[in-house]
Amino acid sequence: MKILVINCGSSSLKYEVYQMPEQISLGKGLVERIGLANGNIKQEAKGRIFEKNSNIPDHNAAFDLMMEAILDDQSGILESTQEIQGIGHRVVHGGEQYSSSVLIDDAVIAAISQNSELAPLHNPANLTGITAAMNLFPGIPQVAVFDTAFHQTLPPSAYLYGIPREFYEKYRIRRYGFHGTSHRYVAGIALQMLKRSVENTNLITCHLGNGASITAIQAGKSIDTSMGFTPLEGLIMGTRSGDIDPSIIFYLEERGFDCKTLNDILNKKSGILGLSGVSSDLRDVEQAANEGNRNALEALETYAYRIRKFIGAYAANLIKVDAIVFTGGIGQNSVKMRERICNRLENIGIHIDHDQNRKVGGKAGCISQPYSPVSILVIPTNEELQIALDTTQIIDPNLQTVVI
Ligand code: ADP
Repeated sequence: MKILVINCGSSSLKYEVYQMPEQISLGKGLVERIGLANGNIKQEAKGRIFEKNSNIPDHNAAFDLMMEAILDDQSGILESTQEIQGIGHRVVHGGEQYSSSVLIDDAVIAAISQNSELAPLHNPANLTGITAAMNLFPGIPQVAVFDTAFHQTLPPSAYLYGIPREFYEKYRIRRYGFHGTSHRYVAGIALQMLKRSVENTNLITCHLGNGASITAIQAGKSIDTSMGFTPLEGLIMGTRSGDIDPSIIFYLEERGFDCKTLNDILNKKSGILGLSGVSSDLRDVEQAANEGNRNALEALETYAYRIRKFIGAYAANLIKVDAIVFTGGIGQNSVKMRERICNRLENIGIHIDHDQNRKVGGKAGCISQPYSPVSILVIPTNEELQIALDTTQIIDPNLQTVVI
């Protein structure tokens, strides 16, 4: 069966078509600048590119353009719309209602809408995508795959903040965690690589992209994760601060910074960009550090130090760790950052093999020493494939041959 995976943002639409259960990607594309001037689409399928600049006033127009590309005679992916048998949507916030992926019906749409309060930038865009896809593919089953769902197994001790309980009860302020689809995907691949069963395996998965989060996984369940009420908490990211003392906000407010400006600073001007003063892109910062820029070097050290702190805390809580997994653009590709992070983790049984680390580069592989009690794995993430897998399993539970 062919599954269409949709990741709909406020001004972009990412899509990919999978042949399932074979897990073969038939092609993928990106529509950008929806609702802005000079919109465009770029699709790659079977080595062919479909590209077009066009005015894209809204999401319905973006979906029409996507279908034009998918069905294009020369460089399309499919011959007919009828071939699509299921659609999987990335949805950012499932609140406390959803701990796994679900078939979309009116109740699910209402819940996604209700959770827009918690993810005002993402859930409304995800809903727009769902509505547009429903108009275009009436009667085709559609599945919601939530970023938060995997972390719904967190115990209260990990999801409660030390603030008055009424804020949790009244405003649902708690740790939700994000990147769940990625953490779940790489955890599944890690089990295959380690040839271990889920029940007796504990993992720490590090998703290090522009956004970054780290998760402690015990017997297949997320028991703690670094992102919190929003994706701002936890690790230092490309432009996000991660953990800071909340009093810094009050201190700056008293000095004339308003709420919107502070929000902007912490989300868009902090992290690697803010610390280095060079760029939010790790490659630029690594290059600047190599050329002797001290701020860049300190940004890299601070980034790695924060990750090491989390690994230590999660290792203590898991008691036994079988593997650390690196994924995301930085986790997958930066040999030097993996080295920086693993440096000084030997005392908790994490021994990196520097030759292997270099050899693996950005591919899947094991980079720990043979004698290391904790394996270190590099695993490219694939959230789209995980969404296709969930969608297939929900539409036809008997078809699935590979369970992740
Ligand atoms: P997103 O979270 O937006 O999906 P990615 O997972 O693609 O982002 O990660 C982007 C980050 O990965 C950037 O900081 C980029 O510099 C970094 N990155 C990508 N390739 C490399 C590389 N070869 N070496 C170091 N960093 C890399």
